[in-house]
Amino acid sequence: MNTSLSQQLFTRGKAVIPGGVNSPVRAFKLVDGTPFFVRSAKGAHLRDEDGNDYIDYIGTWGPAILGHAPDKIIAAVGDAITRGLGYGTPTAVEVDMAETIVRWIPSIDKVRMTSSGTEATMSAIRLARGYTGRKYIIKFEGCYHGHVDSLLVSAGSGALTCGKPDSAGVPDAFAALTIALPYNDKEAVRQAFAAHGSDIAAIILEPYPANAGLYFPKDNFLEYLRDITARHGALLIFDEVMTGFRLGKDGVQGIHGITPDITCLGKVIGGGLPVGAFGGRADIMDCVSPLGPVYQAGTLSGNPIAMTAGLTQLRELENTDAYSRLENLGARLEEGIRKALADTGNPFTFHRTGSMFCLFFTAKEVNNLQDAMTASLEQYRPFFRSLLEQGVYFAPSPYETGFISAAHTESDIDHTVAAVARALKSIG
Ligand SMILES: *Cc1c(COP(=O)(O)O)cnc(C)c1O
Repeated sequence: MNTSLSQQLFTRGKAVIPGGVNSPVRAFKLVDGTPFFVRSAKGAHLRDEDGNDYIDYIGTWGPAILGHAPDKIIAAVGDAITRGLGYGTPTAVEVDMAETIVRWIPSIDKVRMTSSGTEATMSAIRLARGYTGRKYIIKFEGCYHGHVDSLLVSAGSGALTCGKPDSAGVPDAFAALTIALPYNDKEAVRQAFAAHGSDIAAIILEPYPANAGLYFPKDNFLEYLRDITARHGALLIFDEVMTGFRLGKDGVQGIHGITPDITCLGKVIGGGLPVGAFGGRADIMDCVSPLGPVYQAGTLSGNPIAMTAGLTQLRELENTDAYSRLENLGARLEEGIRKALADTGNPFTFHRTGSMFCLFFTAKEVNNLQDAMTASLEQYRPFFRSLLEQGVYFAPSPYETGFISAAHTESDIDHTVAAVARALKSIG
């Protein structure tokens, strides 16, 4: 596979962009590789500057649930841009978007748009502190909530990929207000509330952690969190930036029948453009400026082009059989990968829910960050490279979730399964 143009671009990029990338995981650092530079994308396929084609399982790291450049979104955006790129005034499409979110997610009475998931979580914890008048936030190790100072404590995603779970530049005084606990550990949560109960503003979590591999709540962990926060007057914040609209119309909260106080959204909601949102109970959301004392703003928040892309994507999800198609494709991939694992005698752990999946290069059961970190990077590297050589793009890190889009075909999936089987054989 010739990647000389990508390599030249990476060299040029590294001279003028830190690490040559605008988000760390893109640098392929963990897999000792050179990233390919994408020139165009359509459906489930990426084409790089050298003309190589890849079946994509990253989907822009989550947003591209309908595949890349869906005709409907491209047409809607093309129409919207003829009326201007943004005005800094309220627009009809923002109201349409908010009404759609409120209709889909019963826990949300009111919602405020942002331009990224990071802004959504940052604003949500400020709101929780403003509403409760309390200072501590509980988060879980391996849950990534964007690069918010006080949430970059034991974070996942790019923070893991760089081998630095925390970040320089976050003062101890900020980190001291964040209590990081192991996911699925009720006893640790109980002890934190026993020690600090009346000072805890909120628990924030990815209800299905998907930024350090992908794992799930056990033994009614989510129900436990709902109960203990309610008893102590703390808020429960579901960060569904990854899972929202990805796993169905009302996210993990719908699957488990839990009503969080605040929900953070992003990724799929933007249809590929920069969008985030946070919403929740009306009495909480009414604390946000201009109604209340919690300041929150954004020059580009609710941008009409971004709203148009996002809303068009949500309507497609609503009006087509996308979710059942994603489940069927996911099941087909799962069946194929499990068979490939059995055939090659690999004991690795495989997790999937709907169109999200993770192959952990460990035989251990994975229920938290510590388990996920037992995945072998040494085995993942040659696996990743073999797949890429075969035109299949999995995440350049063993600690990321894979995404299927509704534009993947059954033959894409079958090609992928065959490539996975060959890659597994090549690592022995
Ligand atoms: C991606 C992600 C974020 C951050 O969103 P950005 O748009 O990258 O700022 C926050 N929380 C979760 C769960 C995410 O997956």
